[in-house]
Amino acid sequence: MVPRVYVTSNEVPQSALGILKPVAQVRVNPRDKPPSRGELLREAARVEGLLCLLTDRIDARVMERAKGLRVIGNMAVGYDNVEIDEATNRGIMVTNTPGILTETVADLTVGLMIAIARRIVEADRYVRRGRWKVRWSPMMMVGSDITGKTLGIYGLGRIGLAVAKRVRGFGMKTVYYDNVRNQQAERDHNLVFVTLDNLLEMSDFVTIHVPLTPETRHSIGQKELGLMKRSSFLINTSRGAVVDEKALYSALADKRLAGAALDVFEKEPLARDNPLTRLENAILLPHIGSASAETRVAMAELAARNIVAALRGETPPNLVNKQVFRLKCVR
Ligand code: NAD
Repeated sequence: MVPRVYVTSNEVPQSALGILKPVAQVRVNPRDKPPSRGELLREAARVEGLLCLLTDRIDARVMERAKGLRVIGNMAVGYDNVEIDEATNRGIMVTNTPGILTETVADLTVGLMIAIARRIVEADRYVRRGRWKVRWSPMMMVGSDITGKTLGIYGLGRIGLAVAKRVRGFGMKTVYYDNVRNQQAERDHNLVFVTLDNLLEMSDFVTIHVPLTPETRHSIGQKELGLMKRSSFLINTSRGAVVDEKALYSALADKRLAGAALDVFEKEPLARDNPLTRLENAILLPHIGSASAETRVAMAELAARNIVAALRGETPPNLVNKQVFRLKCVR
């Protein structure tokens, strides 16, 4: 029987569907919005493969219904939307799209760093709101320098390292914390390994690149923000819930932190009345870290190739839960 694949978004590029179609019967969510919970449960129940987004919660309930499901191809590098252990126990392969989005996210991270330090978004608002009255004045819209400052990278994986490479051009001192030390990267890119507390204390810019896990959830909270310098900036392009958003709001509102540039939030989309929207010293983006046309197409195609490999009985190139095979052998 030809396997069936459900694609949860009709924005997934045609080229990715073209990869799936020779091996599977493909059904795409026809609507311009994510499937409702009911639709997801229904559709998952009738397919062997699922091409999903980070906004689709693939939990035990979905998997319980999806008796024939063999592979979940997440079109993202982060996979905190999928209950991995549940998938593993049920023999379902989970794949992600690492690597191809690294440079795009690192570009945005550096862009945010410059934008928050030099008040670029705020200055644009200043002009548009008609506040620019004096042609040039010595202290109008002054921000902070980047050159020569200290950058702290929390999570030195693919994206963290790509950011480290970029900022060498700014002559920054770069420190990092990761639960796995990378001495090769330290030598190659002049990085210094420190504890998370030290990183927070000494950095002028802190950028977050850890995945969202039970361990990292709210790992930047009131205490950690309290360790940061009043003149320092926080950049988050990883996952919103790594930061305790309420604590961050208080720190920004009380000027205990100079600013924050955020691509990700605890609850997305960010509510219009979220208190963060009232702060001039915060940049808020709608989760566009990997949003270049080239990268989004590459992500969709990689997600499709992973699904095709799994359906053909091969090991997908980006299998997250490698234990799935060990458990299958034991069964
Ligand atoms: P990666 O796996 O290469 O790097 C993650 C790093 O975090 C690893 O070095 C790992 O050892 C470290 N880490 C994990 N748990 C830790 C802990 N408890 N303490 C310290 N370090 C820890 O992943 P990546 O490709 O660099 O992506 C990082 C994250 O960025 C993804 O998980 C995803 O959530 C996020 N992301 C966001 C966007 C976006 O659109 N904003 C796009 C891509 C990725």
